[in-house]
Amino acid sequence: MEKDTILNVGFDDTDSPKGMCTTFLAYKIVDLLQKQKTEFLDFPRLIRFNPNIPWKTRGNGAVSMKIKTKNPLKIKNQIKNLVSKYSDTKNGANPGLVFFESNSIPSEFTKFSKLALWQLINRNNAKKFAKKNNLEIYFQGNGQGLIGAIGAIGYDFHDHTLELLSYRKKSKFGKERKISTDSVRNMQEKTSPHTFNSFDTKKGRVLITPHGPDPVFYGVRGENVDSLIHATKILKTTEKLDGYMIFKSNQGTGDHLKNDLTFENMKPYASGKIQGIVSISPKIVKGGHVLFKITSNNHDFWCAVYKPTGMTIHASNLLKGDKIIVGGGVRKASKNYPRIINLEFLEILSPVKNISISNPECKKCNKKMKSKGLNQGFQCIHCGEREFKKTSHEIPRKIKKQLYLPKISAHRHLSRPLQRIGMKNKSSQFNESLSWFCVYRK
Ligand code: ATP
Repeated sequence: MEKDTILNVGFDDTDSPKGMCTTFLAYKIVDLLQKQKTEFLDFPRLIRFNPNIPWKTRGNGAVSMKIKTKNPLKIKNQIKNLVSKYSDTKNGANPGLVFFESNSIPSEFTKFSKLALWQLINRNNAKKFAKKNNLEIYFQGNGQGLIGAIGAIGYDFHDHTLELLSYRKKSKFGKERKISTDSVRNMQEKTSPHTFNSFDTKKGRVLITPHGPDPVFYGVRGENVDSLIHATKILKTTEKLDGYMIFKSNQGTGDHLKNDLTFENMKPYASGKIQGIVSISPKIVKGGHVLFKITSNNHDFWCAVYKPTGMTIHASNLLKGDKIIVGGGVRKASKNYPRIINLEFLEILSPVKNISISNPECKKCNKKMKSKGLNQGFQCIHCGEREFKKTSHEIPRKIKKQLYLPKISAHRHLSRPLQRIGMKNKSSQFNESLSWFCVYRK
């Protein structure tokens, strides 16, 4: 009897802004392997990495899967062929494919993956990593995709979400997606909080359909398989879809912002969080964006809150001295500013008291007194009453000790939505009998 091999497969960077999608390639691979009765040991994994790296196509997503097979050689060849067939290399994709035979994943993989979540990794380091760890790798172009491919295999879940991605038939690629807005609203009402970020109720906007030429029709995010399947039954479209697949993902976990940014590690494109004290109060700049500065460990950091995040109103109410935590991505220095943190969240830890000091009021006339000159006190111009001290009073703050998040239309794939704050989903046990994959009959 031939023995079983456990094979981890990771791939990335197969798409371009002009077409294809790494998750669709995963769907095609699963379709082929399922027909051969290959055993899957977990959901396919859709791992999002640092959303601030400059060369991502959309959401910096990579895919990995874990299977059991008696014929790893045949499967590897089949996957290689599919990666070549479905990679949009002529439009700039730099696909990377990694095979790793083992049931357990060594800690070096996890370390690599953790770093890719918040820092920028040089692609030569991915090649060195592959050599050092004896990985079987394939790449085209510059091999940038190896970073996501290794990272997706190495990712260690502490919390997760699921996403059901439904795919279009080839004849529909690039055409407008028609879905009933009411059905999406209804689906959110019926399935939330077991699904999230499907519909922006404030703007009446559907958030589950992408807008590019890729093969995805919609993606519903949620916490468990049953809720996602239920959601698809509520959604209404006249388009005949090809099928769907459910991925286990780190989307919605805020994973990229959990590391502390410091003066030393705050390289361009890094993501993370930092605690500090507001040292220059906010100013509103052209376009309605808000800029302010914080001090942390004797270093100053510029922070920017962009108008579309919907957080500018809160940021503009910050005062010098407020103790806050900001999370976001580091923008490269420009001509006018040094490195700036683009905020993805703002948490107020302790707001200072806003004390206003002004000339005293005349107790008889209820009118402000006039200063009589330096050190000479104040006098009421109506009755001549005198007073020597200024008065102070507290102005209520417009911000509270709380977490402020962008509005959902400005969320990134990794952003943790309000309804998931403090939550850790560990419940999605994989079982082959689950309806995690389906190709609709022709
Ligand atoms: P998707 O369309 O699936 O949302 P994407 O298309 O936006 O994802 P890719 O086309 O996969 O993203 O491009 C991202 C590229 O960046 C990949 O080659 C990936 O390997 C690489 N990459 C991922 N994380 C890092 C990182 N931290 N540092 C450097 N390169 C990275």
